[in-house]
Amino acid sequence: GEPVLEVSKLCIDYGLPEDGGVRAVTDVTFTLRRGEVLGLAGESGSGKSTLAYAIPRLLRAPGVITGGDVIFHQRPVGGGPSQAVDMLTADAETLANIRWVDLSMVFQSAMHALNPVARIEGQLTDVLRRHRPGWSPAQRKERAVELLQMVGISADRLRAFPHELSGGMRQRVMIAMALALEPALVIMDEPTTALDVVTQREIIEELMELRERLGFAVIFITHDLSLLLELADTIAIMYAGRLVEMATATELVRAPRHPYSQGLLNSFPALHGAKKRMVGIPGAPPSLRAMPAGCKFHPRCVHAGESCLSVEPRLARPNGSFSARTVACTLQDGSRPTPAELALPDP
Ligand code: SF4
Ligand code: MG
Repeated sequence: GEPVLEVSKLCIDYGLPEDGGVRAVTDVTFTLRRGEVLGLAGESGSGKSTLAYAIPRLLRAPGVITGGDVIFHQRPVGGGPSQAVDMLTADAETLANIRWVDLSMVFQSAMHALNPVARIEGQLTDVLRRHRPGWSPAQRKERAVELLQMVGISADRLRAFPHELSGGMRQRVMIAMALALEPALVIMDEPTTALDVVTQREIIEELMELRERLGFAVIFITHDLSLLLELADTIAIMYAGRLVEMATATELVRAPRHPYSQGLLNSFPALHGAKKRMVGIPGAPPSLRAMPAGCKFHPRCVHAGESCLSVEPRLARPNGSFSARTVACTLQDGSRPTPAELALPDP
């Protein structure tokens, strides 16, 4: 399909170098196609949310984009070929016309994103009033009802205040708002993390049905890789602000190639066989202020060799691979002989 978002070599710092700034996201590159679901996984502090907020230019100080490109392919109202919008140089008006309309976000905590003193109806119709000025109040209300029903909430909840709804319902309202103007891309940052497992599952299923029906692309951010295996087309694994592996969900489950991806996949129990012991990854991600040299994962990597301490691997297709998968590990790129016991099957 046609690309909807192209991110290339994106770098994000916290603070400027002269103020002792640190790099939070380094050289992130990916392309998202229309209708595609990209899952972004990694431990907390890996830069996932920073990346998510930078794309629609919602990053707050001291976060600052210091390099790279973010191109959004906007479809003009009324049809015609899409136009490439450079998100990093776009003016406030252009950005305001893109957010909600073409690109929307669902945050982790709906309680913070919703206005606590406004009824659900007002919050939904607000978005419509701003971006569909020609609509009558009756049309807006009709659409608000339709949106609520779309996410499985009955129309009588329109009069409710956010605190009168359960956490799951509030998250559903956020999703309804995000979809109100039928955007081409929805960025979701841990949208179900605060919810119980059953509610989480219900919402994910609804979301996937809606995506099927409406065809929007999704960037779904979570620390829970098991969720992504079910809903994502492509999965990007992030570590210390870098993408370390990118593959289809199927490839990744079948044969994770980066030692960090292997560790993450081992960190939750298999679907069948409760006897399997969970093997977390020992150690913790590095602090932004004390990044190790070479491969940022080397202090935790059981396969680390001499060169890993000084050479930073680049995201590349593994040697001899025919798939689109990319991995940032010197064990994969042929720059270091692969010991037979570490030889991983090529999918
Ligand atoms: Fe481990 Fe070396 Fe690969 Fe980094 S480059 S993941 S330290 S084997
Ligand atoms: Mg986060």
